[in-house]
Amino acid sequence: MRIGVAREATAGERRVALAPDSVGRLVKSGVEVAVERGAGVEANLPDELYEKAGATISDPWGAGVVVKVQKPTADEARRLAKDSILISLLPAATSADLLAQLAGAGVSALGLERVPRITRAQSMDILSSQATIAGYKAVLIGAAEMGKILPMLTTAAGNIPPAKAFVLGAGVAGLMAIATARRLGAVVSGFDIRAAAREQVLSLGATFVGPEPSADAEAAGGYARAQTEEEQRRTMEAMATHLKDQDLVVTTAQIPGRPAPRLITAAMVATMRPGAVIVDLAAETGGNCELTRAGETTVHNGVSVMGAVNLPSSVPHHASLMFSKNVFTLLQHLIKDGNIVLNLEDEITGPMCLVHAGAVRP
Ligand code: NAD
Repeated sequence: MRIGVAREATAGERRVALAPDSVGRLVKSGVEVAVERGAGVEANLPDELYEKAGATISDPWGAGVVVKVQKPTADEARRLAKDSILISLLPAATSADLLAQLAGAGVSALGLERVPRITRAQSMDILSSQATIAGYKAVLIGAAEMGKILPMLTTAAGNIPPAKAFVLGAGVAGLMAIATARRLGAVVSGFDIRAAAREQVLSLGATFVGPEPSADAEAAGGYARAQTEEEQRRTMEAMATHLKDQDLVVTTAQIPGRPAPRLITAAMVATMRPGAVIVDLAAETGGNCELTRAGETTVHNGVSVMGAVNLPSSVPHHASLMFSKNVFTLLQHLIKDGNIVLNLEDEITGPMCLVHAGAVRP
């Protein structure tokens, strides 16, 4: 069996789907690996490391399995061999043409964002590993944008109180943002609608603000369900009061398959201190703040609103190592007696498989 590791063509994507360590393990298990020249360079993983691990630097596209981070372009997809398997991020809602093209070419495709949220699949969960990196980096870019420092200082040049940081949505990214802001010395608070998240916020030494979470706010897989209008009104009322004296706000609130909930209005931003910064990690699904523009930083009455996009790619080395570990564990799950077997009845493979046997799966 041959696995191809493609170089990313998407502008701004610096990660690579398999790192040399995972490649070495695959080679030891008898798999051939072809790595596209320069595939890991942006992640500080040069070709020599892949060669040392036993891979060849050659065309990955004709391999039986091709792995990459972002979905392929139409031109790349044309290079996939009939009966091969593509493994990459594949946002189904915005990839209808690509999925039809793959089906027409007899290629099977697994979407990495569809790893089910079950304990057995945790080590394959790309959304979680990359959200950890995003939560960390969100605090760093917010801190760099601020005209203040985060820690308390007592010096001969005067005393500086600690900055106040607030994290809205305490899932994987939010909890990492809380931990990072705490390490940098901020006084941190958090809010989430799930009861389990409340405990996790408190266990990280942050305070919990906002309405008491209701026991039924958690849906399948640990995700949140959409809030009723009344619940959202109560959340926003609490946010309006709390945001007024925050220096750094990181927002991460998401509902799978829906636009992100709009929780911070322009009127709320207008009450914030000049110099405050909002980093909106939900920018790609519409943003938690009314003023967010994906990929841009806008300033309103002195408050910067940063529409963060693909932060994991801005930490390409560690993001790639974690991504690679996830992909490697998935490959181990799929490989049976030296070959990949797509068992669509399997509780992990089934939901991930978007294209198979010439058809796009529902
Ligand atoms: P996510 O990215 O979908 O959402 C981020 C957070 O936003 C969630 O914590 C959610 O509760 C919160 N949120 C949604 N609407 C909100 C609102 N109106 N106000 C405030 N917060 C709101 O979720 P995620 O971070 O990827 O995962 C959420 C949880 O899922 C994790 O904390 C974990 O408990 C669970 N999980 C389980 C597995 C597994 O079992 N394999 C893997 C990953 C995550």
